[in-house]
Parts: sequence; C-alpha cells; structure tokens
Amino acid sequence: MTNRTPFIVANWKMNFTVPDALKFETALTHELKATGEVEIAIAPPFTALYSLGVTLAETPYKLAAQNVFWEESGAYTGEISGAFLKDVGCEYVIIGHSERRQYFGETDETVSKRIRAALRDELVPVMCVGETLPEREANKTWTIIERQLKMGLASIFLKDVERFVIAYEPVWAIGTGRTASSAQAEEVHSMIRDWLSKNCDGATAERVRILYGGSVKAKNAREILTQPNVDGGLVGGASLDPIEFANIIRCAPQRSQSN
Ligand code: PEP
Repeated sequence: MTNRTPFIVANWKMNFTVPDALKFETALTHELKATGEVEIAIAPPFTALYSLGVTLAETPYKLAAQNVFWEESGAYTGEISGAFLKDVGCEYVIIGHSERRQYFGETDETVSKRIRAALRDELVPVMCVGETLPEREANKTWTIIERQLKMGLASIFLKDVERFVIAYEPVWAIGTGRTASSAQAEEVHSMIRDWLSKNCDGATAERVRILYGGSVKAKNAREILTQPNVDGGLVGGASLDPIEFANIIRCAPQRSQSN
C-alpha cells in the first residue's frame, strides 16, 4: 500500500472565460462536498488564473498553470514567468504537454529549461511525457519516455525531484477518446518508477506521483486510477464538466495521506 496522495488535475486547455471558470468552481464545490484524501488542482487559461485563484483560496482546490517561461522578466512578449504565476497563487505548472510539443515547437531542451524555472520560482512541475502512435507501434515507447525523463530531470537536485509530478500521457490517447488500457498505463508507470529508483533513489521513486492522462472519463477512471503505480490523473476534456469531473475524483482510491 502506497502513501502517495492521489492527485487529479483539470487541464482546461484554451477553454472557459473568467465567468465560466467561476461558474465551474461553484458547481464543483456544490457537487463535491468533500474531497476526501484526494488532492485536486485546476489549470485554467492564464486569463482566469487570478480570479479563479482568489476563489480557490477558500477551497481545498489548488491552482495550476498550463505553461511557464524560463526567464524571470523582461522583453519576452507573450510569455509568463514563474514569479508571475506564483503571484496569482499557482502551486503547480504543467510543462511539456504534447499539444505544446506538437503545435508550439516545445522540445526536450525547452521542457528542461521550463522545469528549472518552475523550481526556481517554487512551483511544482507536472512534467508530461508520452509517445506518439507511430512510436508505440514501432516499439519505441520506452526509448521515447526514457529520453524525455533524462532531459527533463537533468541537473535537478533530488530534493526537488521528490516534489515532482510526472504525467504519462500517450499522445495517441489525448483528446481522441482512445484510452490506454489499465495494463498499458500500469506497465509504463512502473517503468517510470523503476527508472527513478535507478537514476535517483528508491525513496525518491516512492514519493514521486505519476499521473495518467489521455481521455480519462468517469466511466474508465476507476480501472485506471486503482493501478498500483497510477497516482492520479491529468484530465482534459472531461474536466470541463463539473459533474463528470467530480465523478472522476470519486474514482480515486483513498490512501493514507503523506504528501
Ligand atoms: C490533457 O489535456 O492532458 C488530456 C489528457 O486531455 P484529454 O483528457 O481530453 O485526453
């Protein structure tokens, strides 16, 4: 029995205005009277971070951002630094999401820079890793994930790795309605934990939370979230409906709290 607190993160992507975000929060709080031992974070678009952050401060829910730039401030039009995210109450930041890699030229190098910036500004990175369908079909799943882990965790202190959240998101399962089977998810999650154990140490590997992401819905959540090395979910599309999202949270196993 693990003592990692299950963690469910809503990734709203480019959805919801400020009024939509606040309406969601009211509906979720109404639907889910208690969160139990599950930690929950919401990653709205940048424009809703401040207002949602003010509201979430009165709730058990945490605030997360969807990206962070690596410089602290200056002439970087359109970018947001970790200090700014911290300023509006963010605790977590999603880094290296496959949509960023696919549409915005994110690479393992830029992911690594963003991770270091997040840690510098005391944000916890939710680092996304995952293979595309051609990579899986060519039996390259582990080669890809290992490369992403190596680059993402390069020159990071062990005390920081411990706080990391890693999200395994097979690219072919994101927004496609196609989910990895619980066995496929558990296989990759346990390989990630073994890798952490060999490349960091056993205690660190035991503490790092590894989330699964890719078309998680209330109807498949229990099967996936109860796998031994799955510590929660990164939920995109299904996190836009407060009732569906609450039902996913209810599927997370209750484990003893320690994170
Ligand atoms: C995501 O955006 O991280 C994600 C997993 O999306 P979806 O749940 O819609 O597949």
